[in-house]
Amino acid sequence: MASLSTSDKQLLSLIIPCHDESDNIAPFMAACEAALPAGYGYELIFVDDGSSDDTADKIAALRPAAADVQVRLIELSRNFGKEMAVTAGLAAAQGRAAIIIDADLQHPPQLLSKFVALWEQGAEVVVGVRADDKRYASFAKRQGSRLFYRLINSLSPVEIKPNATDYRLIDRVVIDAYNGFSEHNRMSRGLIDWLGFKRSYLTFSPAPRLNGEASYSLRKLTGLALNSIVGMSLVPLKFAGYLGATITLLFGSLGAFIAVDTYAFNDPLRLNVANSVDLAVLILFLIGIVLMALGLVGLYIAAIHTEVSGRPLYVARPSRQ
Ligand code: UDP
Ligand code: MG
Repeated sequence: MASLSTSDKQLLSLIIPCHDESDNIAPFMAACEAALPAGYGYELIFVDDGSSDDTADKIAALRPAAADVQVRLIELSRNFGKEMAVTAGLAAAQGRAAIIIDADLQHPPQLLSKFVALWEQGAEVVVGVRADDKRYASFAKRQGSRLFYRLINSLSPVEIKPNATDYRLIDRVVIDAYNGFSEHNRMSRGLIDWLGFKRSYLTFSPAPRLNGEASYSLRKLTGLALNSIVGMSLVPLKFAGYLGATITLLFGSLGAFIAVDTYAFNDPLRLNVANSVDLAVLILFLIGIVLMALGLVGLYIAAIHTEVSGRPLYVARPSRQ
């Protein structure tokens, strides 16, 4: 692949999703340039995710100090959300590896050299893991995220490390595999975890946001959590079926017991079951059957879901020759 770099140094890409980050662009650029490890050429791909302020103008005005650093700007036509901004950036990246980093300086650029060092040692995915820091998030947000990880890990076949962030480096092989995904409902972290490859972890304490407000409200976060559970797991779809089977079994046996006791043996246990109870048991038994049927439909929808998400069947490393 043609290198964008003017020198013959290897190129690394930084993907920076930006939404209403006007005041953060210049400080981010300064901190980033100061922290870029020497020995590589860089393309800084800023993806303006439909900002309503002048974020894009600020990016366009950036002039990198070093010759082997270039700024690229991708302007999305509206706000598509961070996941899509990252996807757009990765599709455009030409580097040997890409590092995804937030524009608000919550992901400290000082760590860039550590990411690159781990990559040089052979890691194909280096994941920034947030230290479970009380200062960073409210009690509710921390408990919510803990619950989310417990849920998704018990529901999904792919192991997802708690507190793993989007601050991560991925090698070219992973970028190419990621670019092969076509599903709409995506969480970049989840997909990168699904891909596997050799991983390393780097723990860091996130800094407070430099300027502006986080655009992720609790509502948006809950939506993202639900989306990723739906995207990564089929268990909820089968839930109705399991519930139905349990109810059917329970009330089927209760009904059979009552029927045998009352009508076959003339109630030797003196239960005197009222007619209304008979009816309730019958109705619950039937509800169980309906739920089971729903679960059955769920199985077919699960099969369709798997097919239409169009993920590759497996991912292999490119051959070594
Ligand atoms: N971001 C984006 N599109 C959005 C929301 C956020 O590109 O719709 C970017 C934002 O500019 C920042 C990063 O994604 O660089 C993380 O967003 P934010 O700081 O709002 O959320 P946090 O993860 O810190 O809670
Ligand atoms: Mg932030």
